[in-house]
Amino acid sequence: MVLTDVAVPVPLRQSFTYRAPIKLQPGVRVLVPFGNRRLVGIVVGEASAVQASGKLKDIAEILDEHPVLNGTLLRLGLWLSQYYHHPVGEVLHTMLPVKLRQGVPCEPEPETCYRLNCELAEQRTALKRAHRQLACLEHLRDGAQNAVQLKASFSPAVINALLEKQLIVAFDKAVEPQDWQQNLNPNGQPVPDSEQALAITAINQSANRFAPFLLEGVTGSGKTEVYLQAIEPVLKSGKQVLILVPEIGLTPQTVNRFRNRFGIEVGVLHSQLSDSARLRVWQQAKDGELGIIIGTRSAIFTPLCRPGMLIVDEEHDESFKQQDGLRYHARDLAVRRAQAENLPLVLGSATPSLESLNNALTKRYGHLQLTRRAGGAQTTRQHILDIRDQPINYGLAEGMLTVMRQHLEQGNQVLVFVNRRGYAPALLCHHCGDTVTCQRCERPFTVHRAHQRLHCHHCGAVKPVPRQCGHCHSNELVTAGVGTEQLEQGLSRLFPNAPQVRIDSDSVRGKDKLDGILEAINQQKFQLLIGTQILSKGHHFPHVTLVVVVDCDGALFSADFRAAEKLAQLVTQLAGRAGRASKPGEMWLQTHNPQHPLLQDLVNNGYAHFARHGLLERQCSGLPPFQSQVAFRAEAIQAEQAYDFLCQVRSLTDGEAEVQRLGPMPSLLEKRQGRFRFILILQSGQRGPLHRLLHRCLPAVTALPLAARVRWSVDVDPTDF
Ligand code: ADP
Ligand code: ZN
Ligand code: ZN
Repeated sequence: MVLTDVAVPVPLRQSFTYRAPIKLQPGVRVLVPFGNRRLVGIVVGEASAVQASGKLKDIAEILDEHPVLNGTLLRLGLWLSQYYHHPVGEVLHTMLPVKLRQGVPCEPEPETCYRLNCELAEQRTALKRAHRQLACLEHLRDGAQNAVQLKASFSPAVINALLEKQLIVAFDKAVEPQDWQQNLNPNGQPVPDSEQALAITAINQSANRFAPFLLEGVTGSGKTEVYLQAIEPVLKSGKQVLILVPEIGLTPQTVNRFRNRFGIEVGVLHSQLSDSARLRVWQQAKDGELGIIIGTRSAIFTPLCRPGMLIVDEEHDESFKQQDGLRYHARDLAVRRAQAENLPLVLGSATPSLESLNNALTKRYGHLQLTRRAGGAQTTRQHILDIRDQPINYGLAEGMLTVMRQHLEQGNQVLVFVNRRGYAPALLCHHCGDTVTCQRCERPFTVHRAHQRLHCHHCGAVKPVPRQCGHCHSNELVTAGVGTEQLEQGLSRLFPNAPQVRIDSDSVRGKDKLDGILEAINQQKFQLLIGTQILSKGHHFPHVTLVVVVDCDGALFSADFRAAEKLAQLVTQLAGRAGRASKPGEMWLQTHNPQHPLLQDLVNNGYAHFARHGLLERQCSGLPPFQSQVAFRAEAIQAEQAYDFLCQVRSLTDGEAEVQRLGPMPSLLEKRQGRFRFILILQSGQRGPLHRLLHRCLPAVTALPLAARVRWSVDVDPTDF
């Protein structure tokens, strides 16, 4: 018997010791008894015999011959568990595709196929009355088909009937390993300009060693082209490339660009993939059958048998940070992984996060800059529109409408951005001023005209639009502010001849639908594009010449210290959608604060300048990236419980001189779904003391009686409050 440590998916910050019949390799899955359940655990190593062996249980079943997590990924998982102070079993489970968490075999299963087992001509008379069966036989006339394909066209009853009569037979086809290297055939690459060439050379000189780069390139400067040319020698040497992109950036256009350049299959991993499809890509990547894998956040866990390079595109994007469970940041993890596997890593963005920019400016990362747009396109001119005292139609000032009219008359496309979906962000009483609010979140309901409902965007509550004010019973209820629905309605009145499309998470559900709309936009089927954030992310709209931001005042006064950075990224990314080589573009920002220094800096000096200035400010005010933070969050139906819990946490963290503590204070969203939310921030100039402190006090925090009564979590390097 060998004592073995197993990480089990339970919310406990430890692994468990079991008895195994043989020595098991770390990273192998086993089925173990746990309480009165059986769980899929992962072997993390041999255990010391110090444990009281009498009480130890036996492993019930060994699920793998070879580890599902290789040495590097397993070590990365253990590091993750330490760094994010998250239960190790849950971390290792998060790293695996759902199917493997459930215990299905890791090796690809052979495909079941069907082929004809009869003379078709004879059956044409014999099966005259069984149309579907005959049709199925005809279907197999030209060769075998796999079960999935055949079942898409014929019911199980038909197939089973034919199997019983032995007119068709089933057989297993082994999954053929793909040899992408033979098909590798780079083609159609443009000559890089001098800045691109410099970047490509720098990256290529760093093959086979840990070398992180920040590729800071203005929108449309050819960053993707740099990725494409930088990975060519990597692929040619037989190594694999993993590319992370934001969820919304994973379009067929992106994938096709890589596929077409190299003529090889590209593995794609995103959240809407079925569990089996995800497992298949995972297996192929692990077995080295894919040269290029493109995926969203969790793709960072994809095993690579011959890793050659990591790329994180739009590295500033918020979607790389997981906001529940294991709250990891995929970009930060990419740095860690590149280090562990000795790989070059490229973080690319037109609007780098202040964290990455700081690492580049302090020379921890190589800094590659692309300052010009590719193909001679001009940068979008940005203007501020002072709308104080201006008459406003559907959120748009008279002067704004004039500019829009000009662009539309020239046959160009106009993009109108508003950060609210729905009809209006609030419904209020014209008589007493009372706002209709969600009781559970204490925030105004958003009015949705399409189905005459009020929606709470924080908890999802829905209710009919009331006729009367709940406070004074006046029946004069009016909407306040503008959302996408209202803009759509207004613009169709103001510009009846311009075909328009609204793009927000209400109108666009599902990836396919978005992809279809994006294509229709580029075929100029629409002239007015109205939408939310979705429009700002990475798409190229060659016919858009004007971008309008309806309102940027909200973000100027936010209590979140990252709000300015996020607004600057949003505005810059939006501006980047407009203006290609043949059509110069312009952008207008409507505001009541035209002199605001942030807006002035952004519009006159651009993101690069704004961001460097922003870093100085962060340094002066002692904020990340110059300080490390950890957030304790708690929420409860009774506010005192959440607050008291965090006060107790605060006293448990006493006595660490190098750690500053802020709070507990209410979260930015103070109440959600009927629960009051509080936050306690621990902050330090050094990570070391923070981690030591967490390590020391978490067991005591977990043991607090209130810990069982409130919902609480630890978030290392939090990005929202
Ligand atoms: P980014 O990723 O920075 O947005 P892309 O790589 O998509 O930029 O490039 C923008 C456009 O310019 C694309 O249509 C691309 O094909 C083109 N392009 C990029 N580099 C070059 C180059 N060196 N010569 C000509 N066209 C280029
Ligand atoms: Zn009222
Ligand atoms: Zn609500």
